Amino acid sequence: MNMSAKCVLFSVLILLLVLMCIVQVKNNQDSTSGKSNRWFTKIQVAENVWRIDDHGGDNIYLVLGKNKALLIDTGNGISDLAGFVKTITNLPLLVLNTHGHPDHAGGNFQFPEVYAHPKDSTLTKYFTSTDYHDGAIQQTQKNNPDLESTFIRDISAFNKPTYLPVAEGFVFDLGDRKLEVIETPGHTPGSIVLLDAANKLLFTGDNNNTVVWLFLDGCLPLEAYLQTLQKLQARDEEFEKMLPGHGDALDKFFIDEQIICLKNIISGECKGEKYENFIRPALQCGYKRARVAFNPDNIFIKK
Ligand SMILES: [Zn+2]
Repeated sequence: MNMSAKCVLFSVLILLLVLMCIVQVKNNQDSTSGKSNRWFTKIQVAENVWRIDDHGGDNIYLVLGKNKALLIDTGNGISDLAGFVKTITNLPLLVLNTHGHPDHAGGNFQFPEVYAHPKDSTLTKYFTSTDYHDGAIQQTQKNNPDLESTFIRDISAFNKPTYLPVAEGFVFDLGDRKLEVIETPGHTPGSIVLLDAANKLLFTGDNNNTVVWLFLDGCLPLEAYLQTLQKLQARDEEFEKMLPGHGDALDKFFIDEQIICLKNIISGECKGEKYENFIRPALQCGYKRARVAFNPDNIFIKK
């Protein structure tokens, strides 16, 4: 082979390599962040636990066991969560709502079965309706016109999921990993958290966030929520890290700060200042990292 033939062969080989790289990048885009999945990103937050970011709206968690995986919450339902989960695992999937609000149960329509606490069933029904979804899509479109092609607009084409009840003590067995349901009424009547005691993790939904909303219609009185926090505090030997439905992980001592914040409101020591929001008038009080937004007419349990 003469020099120029070698040069041509070498050039062809380089070209082939470049083409293979382009195809590989394209495949990766299609499988992990392709058209329907650019909405989501993921980050590993503990061994075999992924936090899926619902485009800044909320956290969805995927816990992988030996035999099964558990999806904790389904987010706003704007994009293809079921498809995104398949890019992480092919294990049989169990799906659970920590409560019935639209940023935690909005994607339920993408799954055949969803575990949820029956006390939130009315909320869930309302927030997973076609009308509610249509409104959410319109709102989202204004803020994310570039991602419009990733939206799931028409949910009437999906079969409604079957709801399976959970209650205190229910255990999700993933093979080598068990997660226990703890009822935590307050933010909603049917709110739950999930305890993975072997790994010292608590998945807290909206029960333990830096700002907990307790001013909504349907929220329990602050006294009832205080009982919920004290119940979790009594079990805090069983977990170290809390993984909330919004924001970053918190240590368990955050619960102590929430309890002081609640007690300051209930005792009247903190009168509260105005809490700006888009739903209804509310007040807020804070203690260290914890903040509670509340309705001053819904503090005490009615006797
Ligand atoms: Zn909520």
